[in-house]
Amino acid sequence: MVIGRWRLLAAVGLLTVAVAGCASGPRYDLVIRGGRVMDPASGLDSVRNVGILAGKIAAISAEPLASDSVLDANGLVIAPGFIDLHAHGQSTSDMEIQARDGVTTALEMEVGVYPVDPWYQSMVGKAPLNYGATVSHIAARFAVFHDVEVGHWPLNRAATAGLGPDPAGANSAANPGQVEALGGAIRRGLDEGALGVGFGINYTPAATPDEIASMFRIAAERKMPVFVHTRAFGIGAIREAITTAAATGAALHVVHVGSSAGDDLPTALALIDSAKAGGMDLTTEVYPYTAASTMLESALFNPGWQANLKIDYPDLAWAKTGERLTKESFDRYRKEGGWVIIYMMKDANVERAIAHPGVMIASDGVPFVNGTGHPRGAGSFARVLGHYVRERKALGLMDALGKMTILPARRLEGFVPAMKNKGRIAVGADADLTLFDPATVIDRATFTEPTQPSAGIPHVIVGGTFVVRGGELVKGVFPGKPVRVSPPTK
Ligand SMILES: [Zn+2]
Repeated sequence: MVIGRWRLLAAVGLLTVAVAGCASGPRYDLVIRGGRVMDPASGLDSVRNVGILAGKIAAISAEPLASDSVLDANGLVIAPGFIDLHAHGQSTSDMEIQARDGVTTALEMEVGVYPVDPWYQSMVGKAPLNYGATVSHIAARFAVFHDVEVGHWPLNRAATAGLGPDPAGANSAANPGQVEALGGAIRRGLDEGALGVGFGINYTPAATPDEIASMFRIAAERKMPVFVHTRAFGIGAIREAITTAAATGAALHVVHVGSSAGDDLPTALALIDSAKAGGMDLTTEVYPYTAASTMLESALFNPGWQANLKIDYPDLAWAKTGERLTKESFDRYRKEGGWVIIYMMKDANVERAIAHPGVMIASDGVPFVNGTGHPRGAGSFARVLGHYVRERKALGLMDALGKMTILPARRLEGFVPAMKNKGRIAVGADADLTLFDPATVIDRATFTEPTQPSAGIPHVIVGGTFVVRGGELVKGVFPGKPVRVSPPTK
């Protein structure tokens, strides 16, 4: 560590010499030559050379930089690596697919994990991308009601499958002792370095507003944020989350506002803006698709789902086959369990959220099962850059990049110091970089071929190591590091 820091400082110091024109500058581990650096944090948009040393950005210069390893970036944008605050796909293969979409940090903030420490341990040596998670209210409920350690719920559905079709962890109100136990679990998760508290209230419909408020209060006491999938779809539930956060003092991030607000999207964005203007620490995100996806066996499809989602059977597609559902196939597949695609959003609303100032891009990518799933886990970021920026001209390129880099970094950096080194191209920042061609970048994943990698993103670098090079995945490299809060010193 000491040597690394000395080398970095030496490199930064010697940069002055290089800029002054001396031929014998420092030698970097890697130099990216002649790319268009676009850094939303500083506003820099110019052709530069970028020098990387010991996993950090050590130089950003208009002058030549020396290295044995030089990557020509002529014609490419060099952007900070994309930070996905909503990545359920945390397996190596899911991360490899996200790498092709320019993601360098994939955080599981909505559902989260519980227990926290074993999950972080399980990721060591398997992660091409930086990873991290909140402590999960859903998984804590399964622990309290069933004494089952779910870990990462969407990846470990076997753990809850044995609990029958109506598990108490989702569908039973907690008594005061159970609320106390849930609070203990949340505190333990935060002690173990979780990045906040994750809620999927629509998946635990029996969790009362009082229970949720108790958990928000713990987050507020610990000065950590809450990431919330609201109790229902539409403005009422978003208002409930904001009101609870305001009453408890918790910093709130409302996940996937495109689906959660549904047809109320304009009202929801106005409500969020006015609460922010009133001083709340409140943010939101969107994924660039008009269909949602989740597990058919989950409590989200408890009776009454048609009214909640404002859809009916034919608006659901079974992800494995693409077939649209009927009452008969819905009942059958709900017993079997698996992913469905939910056609429920209006394109104009999705585009409006993507273009709206302050709304971040996050994929909500769900784990791919044998190549089936929702394309958002493979194409969200390229789709925004190619479709919404270039083709639709819904927003500018720098604004779009800000929504994928510095905004998510800032969302967390007040709580998670490591995020101060991410989401920007600056000397001393982590060398997480995404190089793409703004003229060709585009998503290729579709609902029939959801794992098709994005195009026009030839190079992706995590902590100075290529995970994508020359348009190809680099197999067998795992430079991803944990994003985690240091346990508090007592
Ligand atoms: Zn969700």
